[in-house]
Amino acid sequence: MKIRVLGCSGGICQSVATTSFLVDDDILIDAGTGVGDLTLEEMRKIRHIFVTHSHLDHIASIPLLADTLFDSLIGNPIIVYAQKKTADVLSKHVFNWSIWPDFTELPHRTNAVLKCKTMKPGSSMEIDGRSIEMITVNHAVPGVGYRVESGGKAFAFSGDTTSNENLWASLNKHDRLDLLFIESAFANADIELARIAFHYCPSLLAKDLPKLRHRPKVFISHLKPGEEETIMKECRKTMPEWKLKPLHSGDVFKL
Ligand SMILES: [Zn+2]
Ligand SMILES: [Zn+2]
Repeated sequence: MKIRVLGCSGGICQSVATTSFLVDDDILIDAGTGVGDLTLEEMRKIRHIFVTHSHLDHIASIPLLADTLFDSLIGNPIIVYAQKKTADVLSKHVFNWSIWPDFTELPHRTNAVLKCKTMKPGSSMEIDGRSIEMITVNHAVPGVGYRVESGGKAFAFSGDTTSNENLWASLNKHDRLDLLFIESAFANADIELARIAFHYCPSLLAKDLPKLRHRPKVFISHLKPGEEETIMKECRKTMPEWKLKPLHSGDVFKL
């Protein structure tokens, strides 16, 4: 399995983009602004998008992708996977003909270029030898993370979340975890903001990470632009045994 980081920041600026991970060459986990780094040819290979939650920084490129690839998707739709609450928000607030045309009905309902498949949290989807499990987390809107297993190796992404039990319990149920992307959106000085916005900061993450029974490589995502060094310093200080590293756009992992 190959994982390419297209974006992993809490915001945007030059060479910094929001969350999107390309698994092999056909699966996206989230479709934030990082998708814009792909060539047209690479975009055409995307067949599946797994959405963690409805916030703009994680879905911004879905409407634009449908429009950009429109002709090549007729009869060959991209499948968007989300839990029902998230799918309903996308339908009501994005693909509502006001913000953007409803590409789940274009060019016609019978051969639409986007197809939405709802998944129940806790369930898994099998796609060409890769098993993708949806895991409920604890965010300001209904949110999930994903665990992806392929060829006996496993990778997980927390999505946006603050302190919770289910992510860790769900990962612990499995035999292995080789790579984990976990968010820490804020620095410790913003702990109240982290609580209100349902994100981790290093001190909150330090209480949860020991719940994980596996010892994967752990990378920190969703760092607020300009705060990266502060957050990473606090992560290393509070969780020295984990050798935490920041995730960057352009990083590629092979498992
Ligand atoms: Zn969010
Ligand atoms: Zn986010």
